[in-house]
Amino acid sequence: MKQLVIYTISLVLFQNFACFSSNSTDKKVTEQNTQITDKKSNEMDSTTLMDSTTAKFSNLNKDAFKLHYDAIVVDTHNDILMPIYLQGADIGKNNPHTQSDFVKWKKGGLDVQVFSIYVPERYKTNHFSYVMKLIDKMEEYSAEYSETFQLARNYEELMNGLNSGKFCGLMGAEGGGMVEGKMENLETLYNRGVRYLGLTWNTSNEIATSARDESLRGGLGGLTEFGKQVVAGMNKLGMLIDVSHLGETAFWNVVELSKGPIIASHSCVYNLAPHYRNLTDEQIKAIAKSGGYIGVNFFCKFLQTNAGNTSAIQNKYKSEVKKIETEFGDDLVSFNEKKYEYLTENKSTGGTPIDVLIDHIDYIVKLVGVDYVGLGSDFDGSIYTPNELYDATCYPIITKKLVERGYTEEDIRKILGLNFLRVFKQVCNK
Ligand SMILES: [Zn+2]
Repeated sequence: MKQLVIYTISLVLFQNFACFSSNSTDKKVTEQNTQITDKKSNEMDSTTLMDSTTAKFSNLNKDAFKLHYDAIVVDTHNDILMPIYLQGADIGKNNPHTQSDFVKWKKGGLDVQVFSIYVPERYKTNHFSYVMKLIDKMEEYSAEYSETFQLARNYEELMNGLNSGKFCGLMGAEGGGMVEGKMENLETLYNRGVRYLGLTWNTSNEIATSARDESLRGGLGGLTEFGKQVVAGMNKLGMLIDVSHLGETAFWNVVELSKGPIIASHSCVYNLAPHYRNLTDEQIKAIAKSGGYIGVNFFCKFLQTNAGNTSAIQNKYKSEVKKIETEFGDDLVSFNEKKYEYLTENKSTGGTPIDVLIDHIDYIVKLVGVDYVGLGSDFDGSIYTPNELYDATCYPIITKKLVERGYTEEDIRKILGLNFLRVFKQVCNK
């Protein structure tokens, strides 16, 4: 049966992921479409009719993991640069103490990672020069791993990277304090390839008041005059405005001022877990209305009030899964099937189950539709994660869970990556 939808943006995504394919998946050139709901019907850059019967997998229950490795999977927030820069972790190796690295992303079927350019709070001065060194580091990786890794600055470069079968990186800055109150520093960030800026981290700065300050310390404020210039400047440059960590007053200032879509790169739902880092229903609706995007954070503290300790459960899972892994080698689909069987049979009653994370995705979908949500793990940002999601090898379980909740292939592809790509294409196309 053909189902016609009125407003679509076509994303022609040429995929050839040979180096990330498992034995039983073979990615081919495909065309995916992202449907926009009536939230944003007037500003489409193209309007076409779409045949939504282009699904590749007829039995999702059986082929959930195949779908995962076939889909473009994007994560919009990761802090691996912190353990790399501060503790000497190696991005190219399977580090025992990091949640992510090239080895884990490959195994987890991730295709695009947005790397957080962030200054730890203990650095009181020279934020801008600090982040320049992090960007240098990303450029070094781009050169060192050029065979398998592409650092992209715009949509075209990203598509070229994916088309070449490479793992792709984007850069997003976290905490507007690094701009040090100077518009020329914002421009330098942009010129060096940074494509989103979180206006604040937990601390307020020259741009705006943070969520933590506003909610816990009674701080008022919103956007400063300089902050208003930054929002206008980012719209002009083609940078995504990231409102994760931003105080609510400043959030509504941004909604009023921004001419482009607004994103929250790593935030969850306040109504499910009332934490100042999370988004209220009204904020979620405003982001959707802007045509934006929310990457759901994997941090248990943002997912669940009184989240349980997951470390003992994860240690057990990790050691058991290691045994399964050796059995299947490079056959990632079979490995995940067996792993999922093990996890289902050994469900823990404590900690935070992955289902709680899926509840946050589901909540956003039910509130505003399926076009505005994705994954923003926050891996390696000093977070602890749901039982089954102990590191970046575990993304496939999210796809399996979405299948179990009854999502269609088209919806799952949107959640896994196409929603962010739609926004990235719209804003970062030069
Ligand atoms: Zn953060």
